[in-house]
Amino acid sequence: LARAAHQGRRYRLGVMGGTFDPIHHGHLVAASEVASKFGLDEVVFVPTGQPWQKRDRLVSLAEDRYLMTVIATASNPRFSVSRVDIDREGDTYTVDTLTDLRRERGDDTDLFFITGADALRQILTWRGAERLFGLAHFVGVTRPGVPLTSKDLSHLPSDAVTLLEVPALAISSTDCRDRVRAQQPIWYLVPDGIVQYIAKRGLYPVPGLGVPDDR
Ligand code: ATP
Ligand code: MG
Repeated sequence: LARAAHQGRRYRLGVMGGTFDPIHHGHLVAASEVASKFGLDEVVFVPTGQPWQKRDRLVSLAEDRYLMTVIATASNPRFSVSRVDIDREGDTYTVDTLTDLRRERGDDTDLFFITGADALRQILTWRGAERLFGLAHFVGVTRPGVPLTSKDLSHLPSDAVTLLEVPALAISSTDCRDRVRAQQPIWYLVPDGIVQYIAKRGLYPVPGLGVPDDR
């Protein structure tokens, strides 16, 4: 994006981390809403490497998750995608994501880490949690089925996290994967290009129907 445009003031960069397996409209609405409410110049989506919280299930190839994220965000001039997590060796930790982005973008950038209520609840269990709040302001967005009040955040530094109510979309990647496996529709839960990419690549195959050829 045109960095020259922010001469003389700090650049406001949203960071939306996720597995994005697949990316869906819940992610996109959350990013768009935070961008609007916080006056962000850009939101960078950062697909994780192999997520350590999800070792118990097979996660789609990083390259497929990266490409889906690119497809879903391409039409929005304020959305971008970063490869920092998928190109880094080993497990993904948010503290590394934020450190790398800060190094890449320079000192005149403020980071706003966007996270759903479920992920925010786990925040203090993350490695380097004490360092996280120095790297970014955290924006916790509401997510259907996950109660979250400011009381839940009482143990966090009060200026470190803002809660934001976003339009409720009861969509999860887990449900999208289950739907594909059950041959149920995911139209309108994910962008059209994602429906088509999943079909083209044979992601989330119906159990027992064999593995699709690897084109
Ligand atoms: P999975 O079911 O595989 O965990 P997910 O739908 O939770 O997938 P993630 O990639 O794990 O998607 O989520 C990335 C970020 O987006 C997390 O901070 C998560 O809380 C947030 N998020 C995901 N879905 C929604 C939603 N429908 N509304 C608000 N936030 C969401
Ligand atoms: Mg999740």
